[in-house]
Amino acid sequence: MTVRQAARWRELVEKRAHHVPLQHLLGTADFCGCVIHVNQDVLIPRPETELLAEAAWQFSGKWPAPAVLDYGTGSGCIAIAIAKNCPQVEITAVDISSDALNTARANAAKNEVSAQISFFSGNGFAALPDGKKFHLIVSNPPYIPTSEIETLQPEIRDHDPRAALDGGPDGLAGFRAIAAEAKDWLLPGGTLMLEVGDGQAAAVAELFQPFGAIEILPDLNNVQRIVVATMADP
Ligand code: GLN
Repeated sequence: MTVRQAARWRELVEKRAHHVPLQHLLGTADFCGCVIHVNQDVLIPRPETELLAEAAWQFSGKWPAPAVLDYGTGSGCIAIAIAKNCPQVEITAVDISSDALNTARANAAKNEVSAQISFFSGNGFAALPDGKKFHLIVSNPPYIPTSEIETLQPEIRDHDPRAALDGGPDGLAGFRAIAAEAKDWLLPGGTLMLEVGDGQAAAVAELFQPFGAIEILPDLNNVQRIVVATMADP
C-alpha cells in the first residue's frame, strides 16, 4: 500500500467510525443485481425493497406493454430493476426532489434503461401528464413517524434524506396522498404495490380497501412489508 493509499484508507475508516454509511463511502449500493449510485440526495436502497421490485416486475411481465408508475423514485432503484427484468415495460418515475431525479437519471443511464423510463419532477400525481393511466403503481414512500426519526441509527438519521423517511405524525401521510388520487391513474384491473413500515400493514391495507382485493406480502424477516391492492376489472 502506498502512503497515499494508506491515508485514504484511514480517512475512510474514520468516516465509517463516525457512522457515514458504507454505501456513501463506496458511492454505490447493489439492488437486485443493479449497481445504483447513491449520495446524500437519495435513500440508500434497502434489501426489503428488492422484494417490492421483484413483485413489480413479475406482475408487469403479465402484460405485453405494461405502464408502471414509480411514485417517489429516489435513486431510481425500483424503476431500474423493473426495467432490467421486464424489457417490454414503460416506466414513469416521479420525485419531488430534483436532486434525487438527477441521480436517478444518471443511474438509469449507467444501467442502460434510460429508453424505458420517463422522469418527472414534482409532487406526486400533480407532476404527471394529464390522462396518463398505469397498470401498476409502485411506491416506497417515506413512512417513519416524525417523532421516531431521532431514534433511528445515525447512518439513517443523519445521512438518508429526511424527505425520504418522514411520513408525518403517524408515518402514513405518504400512503394517504397516494390513496387520495391513485384510482384516477390506474387502468381497470390495475394494481398498487406499496412498501410499508413494520407494524403498518393493517393500517395501510385499510386505507386501500376501497381499491379492491388486498394482499400482504412478508419480507425475509417475516415482517408484513408489501401491501398489494388490486382494482376490480369491470
Ligand atoms: N426502510 C427505511 C428504513 O427502515 C425507511 C424508508 C421509508 O421510509 N420508506 O429506514
